[in-house]
This record gives sequence, structure tokens and C-alpha cells, in this order.
Amino acid sequence: SVEIRDLTLAFGDIQVLRKVSLNVAPGTTTCIIGPSGSGKSTLLRGINRLHEPQSGDVLVSGRSVLKDKPDALRLRIGMVFQHFNLFPDHTALENVAMAPWKIKKLSKSEAYRLAAERLKEVGLEQRAEHRPRYLSGGQQQRVAIARALAMDPEVMLFDEATSALDPELVKGVLNLMADLCRRGMTMIVVTHEMGFARKVADQVIFMDEGEIVEAGTPEQIFDNPQSARLRRFLSEVL
Ligand code: ATP
Ligand code: MG
Repeated sequence: SVEIRDLTLAFGDIQVLRKVSLNVAPGTTTCIIGPSGSGKSTLLRGINRLHEPQSGDVLVSGRSVLKDKPDALRLRIGMVFQHFNLFPDHTALENVAMAPWKIKKLSKSEAYRLAAERLKEVGLEQRAEHRPRYLSGGQQQRVAIARALAMDPEVMLFDEATSALDPELVKGVLNLMADLCRRGMTMIVVTHEMGFARKVADQVIFMDEGEIVEAGTPEQIFDNPQSARLRRFLSEVL
């Protein structure tokens, strides 16, 4: 589970998150939608403390992230970015094995065995020895997902994981994410893919100007929006 309580985050004078509160039940998927600059990425980055919040708290599985060192947080929270951020000089297998070996301190052979298993789960066992530049964008993103999963995270955060992909590659990555959801992973997904949000999300959050304006089921958000702001946003993106 993830519990965000009155999270406030500013860059200098710019208040980006204004007392954001949100609950994500174990094994459910929450999709976050909203206009550019509304604070979606900042919210994800506040959860795993890539940015430090000013006030409020985030509990993951009931335990505050503010109590953990950043390295320990990487064990508990998996994150997948728009630009895959793979290590360019390492093979797919090495990319996935790295954190379990170096951070989780598994033995090298155990880390590589686990990495091979995760690569297989994302359909890339044939590509284990390739470096990122020899993989398609969709394959690179699946390696990035396998890398996050290899840490057995309690929650997975996705920040526009398909936005940098060619249209024909988007579906494969979205299918993989839907699969993870079905297998009971707890996920928070920032996305512009409204079809995915409608089909996969248990809960959809609409953010604007650093606050949660509406939260509800996909039906409530997409078929019965309450606020003028959400109606305007939907009319622009649907
Ligand atoms: P997009 O859909 O374009 O990705 P977003 O909803 O993810 O937008 P954020 O990236 O969270 O928006 O940005 C929210 C606000 O915070 C913006 O006004 C942005 O300019 C500001 N901001 C984000 N990161 C920083 C930073 N490191 N320093 C200063 N301001 C920042
Ligand atoms: Mg963003």
C-alpha cells in the first residue's frame, strides 16, 4: 500500500505540490492524469525522494519513506522513467543484475540467475547479451521494467513509460504493465494513455496546479467528471 499524507513540495518559491493526499491499496493500480506542469512527475519523485518534500509523509507498506536512506528506498520502490535510463555500457542482463548484486547484496551468481528470470518474464531472454543501443525503444523499456522488478519492490512507479516510444511499440509495454497489474503488483502510473487508464486502473487521479482535483473509478473520472477543470482537460485529450 501507499499512503500519501498532506505532501507539500516546493522548488524555491514555486509551490509544486499543495497538500496532496492519496491512498493506494495493496495490489491495485492508480493512474495519474493531468495537464503538463500539474505536478505529476514531482509527486512520483516525492514518493521515492528523488525530490525532498517540505512537509507531509509517505507510507509504503505502512512505513514512512522519510525514515529510510535513499539506497534502502530503492529496495522498496521501483521506478520506470520515460527515457529508460539504462546503463549504456552494460548488457541487458547486467543492467537487470546490477542492483540486486550491488545494492541488495545477493551473490553475483544469484543476481544473474534472478536477472535472467526477470528478462524472461518481459520476453527478452533472447536479448540478454545485447547492450541498450542494439535494442528497440520498447525492448529497452522492458529491460528497465525488468530491472525495477528484480528488486522485488513493494510498489512500482511509472512516469510516462511509453511517451518516448514509437507508436507501434507502445502496446507491448502497456500490455506488460497490465500484466503486472493482473499479477497483483501495486502500481502508480502517470500516463497520457487514457485507454490504459480506463481499462487497467482501479483508481484514476486528476491533478491540476499541484493538487488532486478529482479522484475516482475510471467510470467516474471519464464518464462523469464533476469539475470544469477535468471536463476541459478531457475535451482536450480524448
Ligand atoms: P508533464 O506532463 O509535462 O510531465 P508534470 O505534471 O509531470 O508535467 P512536473 O514535472 O511535476 O509536471 O512539474 C510541476 C512544476 O514544477 C512545473 O511548473 C515545473 O516547472 C516545476 N519543476 C519541476 N521540476 C523542477 C525542478 N527540478 N526545479 C524547479 N522547478 C521544477
Ligand atoms: Mg512529468
